[in-house]
Amino acid sequence: MFAIRRILGAFAVASSLALTSSSVAAQESSEVLRVVATLPPQAGLASQVGGDAVQVDCIARGKENLHAVRLRPSHMVSTHRADLFVQVGLALEHAWVPGLLEASRNSRIANDGPLNIGTGWPNLVEIPLTLSRTEGVCVHPLGNPHVNLCPSFGAFAARKIRDRLKSLRPELSEKFDANCAAYEVRIAERAKRWKRIAALLEGKKVVQYHKEFSYLCIACGIERCGALEPKPGVPPTPAHLAKMAVKMRDDGVKVVLRGAWTPLRLAQDAAARGGAKAVEIPVMTEKGETWLDFMDRAHETLLEAWDLTLPEDGLNMKLADD
Ligand SMILES: [Zn+2]
Repeated sequence: MFAIRRILGAFAVASSLALTSSSVAAQESSEVLRVVATLPPQAGLASQVGGDAVQVDCIARGKENLHAVRLRPSHMVSTHRADLFVQVGLALEHAWVPGLLEASRNSRIANDGPLNIGTGWPNLVEIPLTLSRTEGVCVHPLGNPHVNLCPSFGAFAARKIRDRLKSLRPELSEKFDANCAAYEVRIAERAKRWKRIAALLEGKKVVQYHKEFSYLCIACGIERCGALEPKPGVPPTPAHLAKMAVKMRDDGVKVVLRGAWTPLRLAQDAAARGGAKAVEIPVMTEKGETWLDFMDRAHETLLEAWDLTLPEDGLNMKLADD
């Protein structure tokens, strides 16, 4: 709550600047749709589907904790001018997006609402049975919202973005349909490699620092044996880490998955106590990387975690569902 107040305070200063500039914005071309995305994967997908009909700004950079992205006044300005605001939803950005939308005073977004591309996700996992606050606040109250790390996310999200763009610019529907279809073809091509990597990883076991890789693990057939956080968003406690060390040894877990934002030394020590090693896995696209490249990198990093490589003729491997 204090964080939101600080953000609103900072935005109040920048707000006058943005609102003063709104008349200028109104005079600018209305041809290009201004899109603001919370995370780089959505920003990249919006660019793919929208093509030259959209101008996309992104808030997160690529290595943050997605539940606690640091906002700047410039984010309020871009959100104030946006035609479309894209977020994952599923409460992933709940700690920082509502304050941003309120402060941005964007009537278009207020009327249409943000596009929540996670809504309707058919494979939601880790839905809490209870929401007791006795162990701290769970940041996954609706289930695991880290869907951008699922190989199936690309096509699902691209279609959601396509449909919203079509409603905003019906005259460009054919263009958005074609862009989306072409992108889905590219996804399907890359997915052949991801499936063969998954075949090599099937049956491996991991513990996660924060449960943000669950969908990637499920897609690769990797067994999830718990997390260093006692529940999502609650920092590890000595008692929980001791319990996890025993579990890792009992279950034969050799890899602890962590995002760049998590404390390295803590993850390394906890992994070592359980006879495992800590491995950093990307949580978002970075530095202009496409979502397809990001998924390639995530899969390759998993292979490296177990010192595996996809054979040169790996793409010729025959899988049961081919
Ligand atoms: Zn999370």
